[in-house]
Amino acid sequence: MDSSEFKEFSKSMADFIANYLDNIRQRHVLSTVEPGYIRNLLPVAAPEEGEKWQAVMDDLEKVIMPGVTHWHHPQFHAYFPTANSYPAIVADMLSGAIACLGFSWITSPACTELEMVMLDWLGKMIDLPADFLSGSNGNGGGVIQGTASEATLVALLGAKAKVLKKIDELTPNTSNDEGVAAKLVAYCSEHAHSSVERAGLLSGVIMRAVPAEDDYRLRGDALRAFIREDKQAGLIPFFAVATLGTTNCCAFDDLDEIGTVCRDEDVWLHVDAAYAGSAFICPEFRPLMKGVEKADSFNFNPHKWMLVNFDCAAMWLKEPSYVVKPYGVDAAYLKHNHQGTIVPDFRNWQIPFGRRFRSLKLWFVLRIYGVKGLQAYIRKQVALAKQFEGLVLQDSRFELVCPASMGLVCFGLKGRNELNEILLKKINSHGRIYMVPSQIRDKYFLRMAVCSRFCQPADMELAFHEVALLATELLNILS
Ligand SMILES: *Cc1c(COP(=O)(O)O)cnc(C)c1O
Repeated sequence: MDSSEFKEFSKSMADFIANYLDNIRQRHVLSTVEPGYIRNLLPVAAPEEGEKWQAVMDDLEKVIMPGVTHWHHPQFHAYFPTANSYPAIVADMLSGAIACLGFSWITSPACTELEMVMLDWLGKMIDLPADFLSGSNGNGGGVIQGTASEATLVALLGAKAKVLKKIDELTPNTSNDEGVAAKLVAYCSEHAHSSVERAGLLSGVIMRAVPAEDDYRLRGDALRAFIREDKQAGLIPFFAVATLGTTNCCAFDDLDEIGTVCRDEDVWLHVDAAYAGSAFICPEFRPLMKGVEKADSFNFNPHKWMLVNFDCAAMWLKEPSYVVKPYGVDAAYLKHNHQGTIVPDFRNWQIPFGRRFRSLKLWFVLRIYGVKGLQAYIRKQVALAKQFEGLVLQDSRFELVCPASMGLVCFGLKGRNELNEILLKKINSHGRIYMVPSQIRDKYFLRMAVCSRFCQPADMELAFHEVALLATELLNILS
């Protein structure tokens, strides 16, 4: 393909994308294809001769779109949002064109340096303490990880290196002794994301789930009791994850209390604010991150709720050296003249080696929306959730599981779990809106997440109307 064909192809694609998003409401939010559908639509092997790009475009509606679940449909209320904006899409085009691998500074200085500055911009937008930022006096700095899951794993590995170093300093040459690694214990709330448990499994350390309060928040005393008990038993507590905005119901652990416990007990504190962290660009939500100065690492995903398309998980570390030094690699072909200066080689801050130029999409989004535009976006989505909460409260057949939190409302019909299980099945098979359930201990409930950036107040009315209508049908059958 030459450049003139590329221009035509990409213009045609830009039209397709704009039409897709402009008319997304007319589509069925949840794909209804059966497993294996795509094999029937495709040849059994790759074409021998190259085809025209128009032929590929022609197949998008036939082959791809039937199997797409439309995450940006205003009636998509499942999981949490994933971001989508035109500036981020365009930035990814440029990233695709430069197509560098930013594993070290020299491989494209702009790739590393824009990322450093963007993470400083972003850190300032949520008022992170200066010692997390690279443009300050401390050792801190930010990095873009692919996902919150990787950020948690990287933080855990840093914490492990730190505690093993400490053990070696106290009793030289013992950190490698058999048994020391087996004694390491990490902690999270019982409501932490499954990726936190997985970070424990992947790194072979015990991850203990600490019970939260009845309002789903993890408090300091509960964590302290677990740590003390484990120390008594001869174990080595070294890492804890506080969640700001749990996936189940968007609860906020008490970061301030947990931070104090972690400082007292010399435990690395990582903050997982994957979804809700974007809200901290609005000052009114920052009381929920009180105590953040006691954390060692912090992550939130602009790719969830800040209009930067996947993948973009923003992570800050106060002491990246605990990740960089023990796990860093430095083969001859990787050496360059500016190593170890003010510029990092980001390959050593992450699990993979290669990395894309992802900071471009942050730069585009931050400049084109501005802080005010992004704040307005967050506030609008929070207000939509409040509106839905109001509709739930007006219908006495329903109850809230907890007050609406950020863009999430957890609710259900009063009564037994089975009732809500059947109701959700009816809702999703009717297909006007899409939601997923959750369960905390023995309570099963529905989650309405405000996801699409196209959501308007009328969409909240539509969603609740749909739920109420199907509830009426269900209750009529049962009575
Ligand atoms: C979504 C979510 C995650 C997982 O995010 P990835 O970036 O996909 O790894 C982790 N923690 C919380 C609290 C989440 O909401």
